[in-house]
Formats: sequence, C-alpha cells, structure tokens
Amino acid sequence: MTGTPAPPAPGGPAPFTADDYTARMRRAAEAADAAGLAGLLIAPGPDLVWLTGYRPVETERLTLLVLRAGQDPVLVVPALEAPDAAGAAGAPALTLRDWTDGQDPYGAAAALLRPAGRYGISDNAWALHLLALRERLPDTGHLALTRALPMLRAVKDSAELDRLAAAGAAADTAYEEIRKVRFEGRREREVAADLDGLLRRFGHSQVDFTIVASGPNGANPHHEAGERAIGRGDMVVLDFGGLKHGYGSDTSRTVHVGEPTDEERTVHELVRAAQEEGFRAVRPGAACQDVDRAARAVIAEAGYGEYFIHRTGHGIGVTTHEPPYMIEGEEQPLVPGMCFSVEPGVYLPGRFGVRIEDIVTVTEDGGRRLNNTSRELAVVG
Ligand code: ZN
Ligand code: ZN
Ligand code: ZN
Repeated sequence: MTGTPAPPAPGGPAPFTADDYTARMRRAAEAADAAGLAGLLIAPGPDLVWLTGYRPVETERLTLLVLRAGQDPVLVVPALEAPDAAGAAGAPALTLRDWTDGQDPYGAAAALLRPAGRYGISDNAWALHLLALRERLPDTGHLALTRALPMLRAVKDSAELDRLAAAGAAADTAYEEIRKVRFEGRREREVAADLDGLLRRFGHSQVDFTIVASGPNGANPHHEAGERAIGRGDMVVLDFGGLKHGYGSDTSRTVHVGEPTDEERTVHELVRAAQEEGFRAVRPGAACQDVDRAARAVIAEAGYGEYFIHRTGHGIGVTTHEPPYMIEGEEQPLVPGMCFSVEPGVYLPGRFGVRIEDIVTVTEDGGRRLNNTSRELAVVG
C-alpha cells in the first residue's frame, strides 16, 4: 500500500492535479504564518494525502512534509520510498530530501526548522518521530494541527463536495439495499458484513465502520456489531461509512424488526424531529454549537435530554471524523463548503437506542443534505 493511490475507476472524478496540491500547500503555509507558527510538520496520514496526494504507510522510518510560508515545501523521505513519493500527484511542487538507513533523518529535518519556532504537527504523527525531533531542537514548540489550525481542511471546494456527495449517495444506496435483507434470526455481524459488501459494491474503497446495534446494544452509541441474534421486536441502529474516491460517507438510520410499539415510534419521531431542527439551524454565520443546541433542545423539551449522550456532529472529508465539531462551546461560525454530520440520538440503557444521521454541507443560504434516504422508521423483516 505504498505510493500513489490507484487511478480512479472508470467514471470516477477527475484526479486532483499538481496545481490543486500546490494551492493547498501554499494555503496551509500561509494559514500557519497567519497563526504565528513557523510552519507545519506533516506526517503520513490524512493531512499528507490532502496536501500532496502521497499515501505512504506509516512506519518507524521518518517521512515528514515541512511547510513554511514563502519557501518551497520539502518532503523528508526514506530513499527506498523516494520513487513512490516522486510519483505522487503533488510531487512537482515538492523538494524531496531523501535519506538512507544509517543517516540521521531527524538532523535533516531539524536543519529545515527554526530552533525556537513553534510548529503545527499532524495529530497522528508518531511520538517516536516527534520526540526525536525535540531531542535535536529542545526549544522548538509543537501544537497539534487540529488545535493550531482546526479549520484547515474544513471548507471543501466543489471537486471535494462532488466526492462527498457521491460517497453519500453510495451510502444511501447501501441503506436502501440493506432494508431488503433478513434481520430476524441473523447475528449483528452478519448484517454488518452485508453492509460492508454493499458499501464496496457501490464504490467504497475503504469501510471505516458498520455499526449494527440491536435491541439493548443500540443504547451504546459505538457498539460495533457482535454475536447477538437479532429478534423480532428489536430496534436496530445502523451506522456505516468509509471512503469513496478518497472522501467519506457516514450515515445512520434506525430500523425496527416487525411492528414497533407506540413508545418506539415516539422516541424515533423525537430523534427525527431533533435531526430536522439541527439541519434547519445550518446556515452561514451560525455557530457550530447552534446546530447542537437546536437538535438538543427538541430532545430535552420532550424529557429525554439525559439520554442524548454525545455531541450532535463532526466534520468529514478525507477522514470520517474531523473538525468542525457540532458541540456546545464551539463558536466557530459555519462557512459555505463545510461538511459535517447532524446525528442526534436517544439511548435508553438496557432497552434500545435511536440515531438518525445525515452529512450536511453549508450552502450560501442554508444547508444541503448529502444523505437523502427516508428518515421515517422503517420496518424490516
Ligand atoms: Zn420493538
Ligand atoms: Zn455515523
Ligand atoms: Zn457520524
């Protein structure tokens, strides 16, 4: 899994170009400068993919992109991986600084840095690498990238929005298909395997999660899928997503095996109304916390506030969980092009849970859902 991503499947979106990556790197370096940072240190992972299109495996050998305002980006890379790096779409904008086993890659990286500068560093950079850099430059400061520049990847351009919409549509098709499979008598992990297969059939190259949480398991928001046999009368929370053409999907619907009770219908309707109010709060200039407050108020007013035990949403892009977060205290204003989930839930311990989730993007005058399947309670067999 080293080197550049596979070429897109026929019919897929046009790949990002060297110009796209050059513009992203320049924008990131300028944002760092504006934030008072000497630069950014980017490790293998989603930041590096977004900035360069290069997708190496994360290993003990140092690979590090160094971005500084007004200077060319430099990629410190193991010599044996340099050919892969040189093939990345963003490589024309990069100066490769390769090193061979036995040489000191941290010295090479440190030579690019200001001894007392403060740098943003990828959240997922290995401690191994950061600590070695700190040994070389003890007076250098480091800030997690999502603390330093939380909105760096948050506003998507039209090509990114197209990919997110396509991923959402594929997840929607997977939901339409999973409603037709048998639930009663099968284990959660069997339905989860069906979901995995459907996401891949509809173009996902990576599946990040396939939550199938039946009956009392539904009261645990991050229950994955286990050995429990799904029975008649169960509510089943389905929450699934992954990457298609490099961009994420993430949607939840809650279905019921057979006819639901009045209480189950009431709780489901409450969550549906909360999700709707959260969506309606999406508009440019509203704060992230306004989306959380709008959804939470509906559930609290109905007396279920203590059973909505997580934030209302999270951003999505080249990963399925990233800033911005729809949470109390987050005053970041919404900006057209941001993409995030609106996913309130109610979790009744020992009994059942309900969650309804759409990815939403901010438009010039409101919001647009990237998931569009029915939010009514579906009865499955
Ligand atoms: Zn039931
Ligand atoms: Zn989800
Ligand atoms: Zn989510």
